[in-house]
Amino acid sequence: MPHEPLLYRNHFCCPNDGATWDDEWSCMCNDRCPECDAEIDPYMSENLVDGEMVIHAQVVYDKAMELKEQVEKQLADRFQALLDKEDN
Ligand SMILES: [Zn+2]
Repeated sequence: MPHEPLLYRNHFCCPNDGATWDDEWSCMCNDRCPECDAEIDPYMSENLVDGEMVIHAQVVYDKAMELKEQVEKQLADRFQALLDKEDN
């Protein structure tokens, strides 16, 4: 049986624990949270062929972007702290 081509990158954000992840699949399907094993709908799917983005849940998308910014800020702060430490 031939493998189905990977057509979509589905993006997920778990409302239970804030876990975010993405997965490539042949359809816009649900996935299981790696943290709590809940079945989660993708909030966004990216078509890997034409690059088109489909947002399924704007509220979750906004929340996920907010979480991502927070994580990036934390990483940047941590990195800066390391640099500061090296200067002393
Ligand atoms: Zn979860």
